[in-house]
Amino acid sequence: MRRLRNIKIVATLGPASSDYETIRALFDAGADVFRLNMSHGEHADIAERHAQIRRVEEETGRPVGILADLQGPKLRVGTFASGAEELEIGQAFRLDLDDAEGDVTRVQLPHKEIFEALEPGSTLLINDGKIRLKVTACGADFADCEVIVGGTISARKGVNVPDVVLPLAALSEKDRRDLEYVCDLGVDWLALSFVQRPEDVTEARELVKGRAAIMSKIEKPAAVTRFDDILAVSDGIMVARGDLGVELPVQNVPPIQKRLVRRCRAVAKPVIVATQMLESMIESPMPTRAEVSDVAAAIYEGADAVMLSAESAAGAYPVEAVTTMDNVAREVESDTTYRAVIDASRGGLRETTADAIVSAAREIAETTDISVICCFSQSGTTARLIARERPRVPIIAMTHLLSAARRLSLTWGLHCVMTGPLERFKQAVVNAARAARVDGFASEDDQIVVMAGVPFNVPGSTNILRIAPCQERLIFATDPE
Ligand code: PEP
Repeated sequence: MRRLRNIKIVATLGPASSDYETIRALFDAGADVFRLNMSHGEHADIAERHAQIRRVEEETGRPVGILADLQGPKLRVGTFASGAEELEIGQAFRLDLDDAEGDVTRVQLPHKEIFEALEPGSTLLINDGKIRLKVTACGADFADCEVIVGGTISARKGVNVPDVVLPLAALSEKDRRDLEYVCDLGVDWLALSFVQRPEDVTEARELVKGRAAIMSKIEKPAAVTRFDDILAVSDGIMVARGDLGVELPVQNVPPIQKRLVRRCRAVAKPVIVATQMLESMIESPMPTRAEVSDVAAAIYEGADAVMLSAESAAGAYPVEAVTTMDNVAREVESDTTYRAVIDASRGGLRETTADAIVSAAREIAETTDISVICCFSQSGTTARLIARERPRVPIIAMTHLLSAARRLSLTWGLHCVMTGPLERFKQAVVNAARAARVDGFASEDDQIVVMAGVPFNVPGSTNILRIAPCQERLIFATDPE
């Protein structure tokens, strides 16, 4: 069972996609990784969805990635005596720590840390950026504001503070409980919301203790500013365009997306483009032309994955949304312009033996008649390096660690196959040829490239490249051991 595209599809699960049949249908339609959104659902719901994904994995025999997405601290206003108020442009409005119900002149903002960080001139956004306030004066327990963009404000609406680095940890108490829960359950990726600085990632890594790979969601301007430092301590990145488009002017999001995708590609760390990709499919079986172009743009950029949020979690057409992404990816990736764009945007330094070998593997596969590149990868590093090359031929990543295969299911172009630990190089060739034939990448008459490292089963030791016939019986005694 193989996908006929390189970019991966992440599908968020939710009320519209919680039962086994739907999750299986999403997988069959093309979902490679499932996202469990910790902002919604009880632990019991999360455990149930997790069990169904693992059942799909068992029944299809394909490694499937699970990404748990932590909510992060949520900043919200208090309640209003009247239920809701209408704020007019130019009026004064106060936010404070007083827990009395609000009115048209004030409301509680129960986050002391925000008042400590605000300055006159700071911006506050309420209700997904629909209301904009400018701070005119502030103290330890209040902020007087002028309404710049008015609208209806009601109980517990979310607050964003875009131009200030907030003295808040990326992990709330709920996030810490959720982190322990999902790490014990066994997830492959843990996504962190509200990352502002690299320390937010290292703090989470200490709690995760290797149980999952860590993905930083880039959704705050401070994270964009410190992106390189955050990338250095993260295993992967999500371009979280929803919050990013609230905290920054929306027109800033596309160039940021392009820049982040390039930086991630250069260092061989997977990057997901997320949010509102096929938003209209929450209610319609057909996407808009603009949404299709947005998905296509991420594919042309060479992103590792595109993501569905409410489309697959709560929409009326979850399977159709995955099918749409799959169709767009197959069409775009077979376009000659796609290949030209991908080749022209290949970046990153080539410094190590493994870098040189994967680069050579791509050259060989592209200049001779090679059907597939098979790479033995213990930790997944070599597999990510060959994926960074974005070769024209498919890649099979072979590993004996299920955890590595599941994590790699997010990476561009990797078809992961489980294999036993290697003892001899011949065995690598035999196993690779078998996997290539069984999964439909090559036939007996084809040639394959095999990469492995000696000593075997040591992460980062890739140092052998062999062009081999895809025939198990043609492994002669003269072949290298
Ligand atoms: C986003 O903001 O784009 C995102 C993916 O995060 P969340 O789903 O937590 O809003």
